[in-house]
Amino acid sequence: MALDRIDVIAADITTLAVDVIVNAANESLRGGGGVDGAIHAAAGPDLLEECKTIPGGCPTGEARLTHGHKLQAQYIIHTVGPIWQGGEANEDGLLAQCYRRSLGLMVGNNLKTIAFPAISTGVYRFPLERAASIALSTTAAFLTGDDRIEKVTFCCFGEPSLHAHEKALAGLTP
Ligand code: ADP
Repeated sequence: MALDRIDVIAADITTLAVDVIVNAANESLRGGGGVDGAIHAAAGPDLLEECKTIPGGCPTGEARLTHGHKLQAQYIIHTVGPIWQGGEANEDGLLAQCYRRSLGLMVGNNLKTIAFPAISTGVYRFPLERAASIALSTTAAFLTGDDRIEKVTFCCFGEPSLHAHEKALAGLTP
């Protein structure tokens, strides 16, 4: 079953004790605002040093793995969501790819538990309900084909995001 391995919570993702947290990064992997800034602040300066060793940063829709440094999470997967441009620039496809690539990377590294922020829904302005629906449906489809992942947590920041993700999860329930 896929749905019993999905949780939706409201929390600060930097506090979660999971194997890997996902960062909604930018292509340079040099830190930024929002969840990216919070993760770099909590992980400490060695995270930036490690990010600098990754050649080419991270193109939109891709994912890169680093250590968690001072976080409770062992690892961080940095993925870069699309900037919302109105919906005709493959934003849906790129956002879904962020979730698939992140889940693929965790499986490839034998990690069992992961927490995602709501990628692209902050500064990148992706409409919240649309993003939540893509996040939940893409993840459920991935889990259906993979029994190695134990838990996927959607870590929402604020009530509107929590409600959007709860609604998207409920929409998947048979
Ligand atoms: P993007 O550039 O991909 O839009 P943002 O960091 O601006 O990234 O926003 C992505 C989401 O992360 C937003 O829903 C924002 O509210 C949320 N967010 C910000 N800080 C945190 C945090 N500490 N923990 C979890 N989510 C966070």
